[in-house]
Amino acid sequence: MISVNKTAVITGASGGIGSSIARRFNLLGYNLVLNYNENLESLEKVVDSFVNKHAQAIMFKADISNFDEAGLLINKAFDEFGAIDLLVNNAGITRDKILTMMSADDFNDVISINLSGTFNCTRHACKKMIRQKSGRIINISSVVGLMGNIGQANYAASKAGVIGLTKSTARELARKNITCNAIAPGFIETKMTNAMSDEAKSEIIKNIPLKKLGTPDNVADLVEFLSSEKASYITGQVISVDGGLYI
Ligand code: NAP
Repeated sequence: MISVNKTAVITGASGGIGSSIARRFNLLGYNLVLNYNENLESLEKVVDSFVNKHAQAIMFKADISNFDEAGLLINKAFDEFGAIDLLVNNAGITRDKILTMMSADDFNDVISINLSGTFNCTRHACKKMIRQKSGRIINISSVVGLMGNIGQANYAASKAGVIGLTKSTARELARKNITCNAIAPGFIETKMTNAMSDEAKSEIIKNIPLKKLGTPDNVADLVEFLSSEKASYITGQVISVDGGLYI
């Protein structure tokens, strides 16, 4: 089995897309610090399923919306493995409601996890990456951050914010040999989309040129590419994995 002596921090690794990214980077031989917030059991199952038993994996509970907890997560990776080569800001939530029904808490909770959480982890990790003079940051945004969506003003704002954060981070850190890119998944089969009715899903599929939902592995494929040497000249980009939904 491969061991590349590289370290990745993946937030929301207990969820659908995060767990697929975690499995991929385990296969690639990365040492992993895998973040969860509430679902330790789900994350344990992910780690149990790891094929590469040589690479290390640490599970770390942190609410990334809390600046100090995000700092502890990043410090854990640095203390255990001495470097952070890759940060994947993947954790995210939805609290869908039409605007007239959306409370300030519905709005702020989504912003504080999806957008401030991404800032918090990036802010702590980039200090270490600057010292290393290298690093990759990959932020999981959403097609909804590009297009908006009925019932998702909070989520769309957070994911559009992630795109602005990505571009600024890329500009600021390029001179330090750190790249930062965003992935905008379309509708991917996970717990998040399972919450939708079959009717809503078939309505969405009608609008997807490739006529199907995506899989978490479709997203992991792009994370793998963006973290590789082959992507060393790509920064500040937003790349869609959405079956053509946002053509
Ligand atoms: P998911 O299965 O619901 O997983 C969400 C993950 O976020 C879980 O691991 C959860 O951890 C974690 N999380 C939630 N609040 C957190 C907090 N305060 N601190 C740390 N972790 C927290 O969702 P998913 O579909 O895999 O989505 C992953 C990312 O892709 C999200 O950013 C989402 O917005 C984005 N995305 C998804 C789709 C889609 O169609 N599924 C499309 C576009 C973008 P616990 O369960 O341990 O609390």
